[in-house]
Amino acid sequence: MGIIKTIGILTSGGDAPGMNAAIRSVTRSGICNGFKIKGIYRGYEGLIKGEMKDFTTEDVSGIITRGGTILKTARCAEFMTPEGRKKAFKTCQKERIDALVVIGGNGSLTGARDFGMEFDFPVIGLPGTIDNDLYGTDSTIGYDTTMNTIMECVDRIRDTANSHERIFFVEVMGRDAGFLAQNCAIACGAEAAIVPEETTNVDQLAQFMGRGIRKSKKSCIVIVSESPKCGALYYADRVKKEFPGFDVRVSILGHLQRGGSPSAHDRILASITGAGAIEAIKQGQRNVMVGVRNNEVVYVPFSECIRTDKRFDKRLITVLDELSI
Ligand code: ATP
Repeated sequence: MGIIKTIGILTSGGDAPGMNAAIRSVTRSGICNGFKIKGIYRGYEGLIKGEMKDFTTEDVSGIITRGGTILKTARCAEFMTPEGRKKAFKTCQKERIDALVVIGGNGSLTGARDFGMEFDFPVIGLPGTIDNDLYGTDSTIGYDTTMNTIMECVDRIRDTANSHERIFFVEVMGRDAGFLAQNCAIACGAEAAIVPEETTNVDQLAQFMGRGIRKSKKSCIVIVSESPKCGALYYADRVKKEFPGFDVRVSILGHLQRGGSPSAHDRILASITGAGAIEAIKQGQRNVMVGVRNNEVVYVPFSECIRTDKRFDKRLITVLDELSI
């Protein structure tokens, strides 16, 4: 691989607030450092099909405040095959793209790792996911905004839950990780969180109901991590059957969790890691994700950041338990 002149940038997987701030940062920092930037539309699908545009600094004006991604995003099954990735490589050759910056979550960076290895191609990742499930960075772009959105929603639900003296099961996103559920439960003063990290060995509902709900409490909020089998509906059904005295309701927050203007934290994280991606390219790094750990920019090999065992601090469970008595 020769000298890098042109950098392609794309967003992939679920959209996350702050992706635009990251696109802006990579573009402007790239241009500042003498690179040509190509914005690639619809993630890996656009890379395979060659949907892209040369980006100027004006193309990223006024987007730092906006949620979603101006580059659009997609889930692309074809990129999961060697043939699909070959097509993507051909596009890079045709368009004279010398390096890629991929903004996305676990799946997107797994694809980035395979692509980089197969074609000996420089790829830098940015942690763009609301789930915070990427190893090696304290936080991911979108996670903080989503926590704040969930907190606002649950504050509102609390009003109605209080008035009617109900148990509410509020389902939040998070894939296979409980970061959103556990931390939002603390931020909202919820009575419990049901998280995937714990489901394998304990019946969290039985544990929670077993503790007993304080008589003086007018309502109860339980934050549940999304799950195909054991989401909020599953637990609400169980309470209806196993504890028939309670008035139970379910609220699935769904896609509203992804939207909205990014928080200051996410804008700053996106800006720092975006500039960090250009710095990484200048240093000749490849196949790494740019993260921030203990306030320091870090470069984490893809193989490490996609590990599936990133877990929230177990002390958060004790904190929630103690504060919800
Ligand atoms: P989110 O955190 O929002 O779920 P994500 O990046 O994890 O984001 P995925 O749907 O898992 O979202 O992945 C996005 C895209 O990345 C997929 O549609 C596919 O194109 C690519 N991808 C995912 N997994 C792989 C893989 N194992 N090999 C190659 N490409 C992959």
